[in-house]
Amino acid sequence: MNQENPLQTTIKQEVALDGVGLHTGSKSRLILRPAPANTGIRFFRSDLPGIPMIPARLGFVVTTVRGTNLGLGEAKVHTVEHVLSACTGLGVDNLDVLVDAGEPPIMDGSALPFVEALLRAGLVDLEAPKRWLHLPHEVVYEAKDGARYRAVPSDKFEIMATLIHDHPMMPRMSLSMTVDREGYLAEVARARTFCFEHEVAYLKSQGLAQGGSLDNAIVIGKDQFHTNAEGLRYADEFVRHKMLDLIGDLTLLGRPLFKMRIEAERLGHAHNVEFAKKLDAAAKTLRKPRTRILEAK
Ligand SMILES: [Zn+2]
Repeated sequence: MNQENPLQTTIKQEVALDGVGLHTGSKSRLILRPAPANTGIRFFRSDLPGIPMIPARLGFVVTTVRGTNLGLGEAKVHTVEHVLSACTGLGVDNLDVLVDAGEPPIMDGSALPFVEALLRAGLVDLEAPKRWLHLPHEVVYEAKDGARYRAVPSDKFEIMATLIHDHPMMPRMSLSMTVDREGYLAEVARARTFCFEHEVAYLKSQGLAQGGSLDNAIVIGKDQFHTNAEGLRYADEFVRHKMLDLIGDLTLLGRPLFKMRIEAERLGHAHNVEFAKKLDAAAKTLRKPRTRILEAK
């Protein structure tokens, strides 16, 4: 692969995963299929008549309650962020993702099973260069709850994430890294989702976390972490998972690689998506002159 001008990628062959959805609790089969250059990542509801397609793009985000949920018309796919994170982590630009339920399987709560499936299928270059997202200037997003995001142009994709929770088991945690394939595999892909013990009953009463268990989530109790026999995968697994989610949500920009440095505090799906919209708007100001030239012809 040419380092200066890398090519878009997809997978070599179809691969499938089975499990249950985190929030719906429904059985779910995910099939990943190769897709041509410039199609991006698309979800398909294989269980609905006509197999409706939903592009994995910002314009199709319908809600961001405890996950990022996409929809087009009646067709919806919930909790898309971990699959998308795996794609960006490995540099997969084009992929068709078929789901036979309203939500991909949560698997172990991390992106690792999706990463492994993509690697099992094998990655292949396509005859089209990657389309980078270029930022013309600094982009800042701030919300009333104290969430703060900032992006500046850089020659690589870097993230510094800071987790701030008012909870005795969760001291302030920060992690800074370059998001390339090696960094993603070593530092991010294995980090699992989490919730607080006091939220569990409420989430279940709202019809969320129906498929949640210690097999796919860490539950933070008053004075201890509830996990499966494996224990924590990293002492700061929580901030790593927030980074995983942010990378997944930024995938909705539809541009495979990001030449920017991001600093983000108090991350959440709603903020990730709003921040991504600001990045998209800033990047579009760079693309406008070209449009004008084309129109003049
Ligand atoms: Zn997550």
